[in-house]
Amino acid sequence: MDPNDIRIPASEMMAFCAGALVKAGATSPDAQLVAYHLVMANLTGHDSHGVGLLPAYLKHAVEGLVDVSAEPDITHDKGAVLKIAGHDAWGRKAGEFALRAAMKKAGDLGLCAVTLSDAHHLGRIGAYGEMAAQDGFSALFFVNVTDHDPMVAPYNGSDSRFGTNPVCIALPPTGTKPAFLLDMATSRIAMGKARVAANKGLRVPFGSILDENGAPTDDPSGFKSFEQKGALAPFGDHKGYGLAFAAELLAGVYSGGGTIQPGNKRRGGIRNQMFAVVMQPNAFDDPAAMERETDAMWEYALASPPADWDSPVVAPGDPERSLRKRRSTEGLPMDVETLKQMNAAAEAVGVTERLGS
Ligand code: NAD
Repeated sequence: MDPNDIRIPASEMMAFCAGALVKAGATSPDAQLVAYHLVMANLTGHDSHGVGLLPAYLKHAVEGLVDVSAEPDITHDKGAVLKIAGHDAWGRKAGEFALRAAMKKAGDLGLCAVTLSDAHHLGRIGAYGEMAAQDGFSALFFVNVTDHDPMVAPYNGSDSRFGTNPVCIALPPTGTKPAFLLDMATSRIAMGKARVAANKGLRVPFGSILDENGAPTDDPSGFKSFEQKGALAPFGDHKGYGLAFAAELLAGVYSGGGTIQPGNKRRGGIRNQMFAVVMQPNAFDDPAAMERETDAMWEYALASPPADWDSPVVAPGDPERSLRKRRSTEGLPMDVETLKQMNAAAEAVGVTERLGS
């Protein structure tokens, strides 16, 4: 933690965010849900997708870039395929609606492919993966981002043509192992991580950002305060780029919500489209045999002697689990600049309380 950071208890942060969202027009249940989703992202260590987004969410609510009274609905339901329209509703609400509908169908059929179009920002996709895994389902998620300018350069490109298009793979816990949760942006660093680093005056790994001329840099200052000068690089060179492209096509095209190509609207909001496959593991093999093989593979992978004894081998999802435990007791570490942005945005919608004072 940065020595200048201020610790805010999660409950205080929830109340502040929910209060501000209500002032911006959200219903009280939606405000609670969205605030919970943001705070949970911070608790799991994903500050990029946490409460630092409150200023953007309030702005979107005031400007109509999220429809605070919209409800997602099912527009297509045939066989194992479901399509959900988000109607610009809050992302957490639309994402949870889509996932619950898909889990119900996967429970009946063994599997369901679901798409979600035009939802406001879905935030941390791992939250939906955790929800599926907790209910005993496995799930794959591909997400694209529209309604604003692109942020990620294609491999060998020099300007932005993609969103940070996250991919998430979740598998349920066994009797002895926790859920497997791989949840990642396809950019080398998430956009919000560049923003948080810029707000704190920190550097980012060299080459994770391209400057305005397309040259690799470690300077995130072009991403301060929701600005964007330059582009993020895809992770893993052509491989991350390929996954980002696949997410654009699966989520953007299959949902009907559209890709980030410039023929589609860029109003300055954040819209997500999602393509997910939700599976009932029991439909594939004997549950006891699957658990035995899963446990054996976990044990084999994690038994690798660490190259650096200060960084043991862990499984995808482990870092989030351990941070959640720690931050739930210690509170959320907040940098001064992010708090300033949050307080200013909340004041603009009529909130009188101040965080961190
Ligand atoms: P990250 O790089 O912090 O983590 C990626 C994955 O790697 C996680 O599953 C994590 O558990 C795993 N991991 C991390 N360290 C590990 C280690 N030492 N050993 C094994 N596994 C390890 O995540 P990110 O790419 O910065 O993404 C941040 C968040 O941003 C994600 O929750 C993602 O869903 C979200 N996101 C959302 C959008 C959107 O439009 N809604 C866009 C981009 C990203």
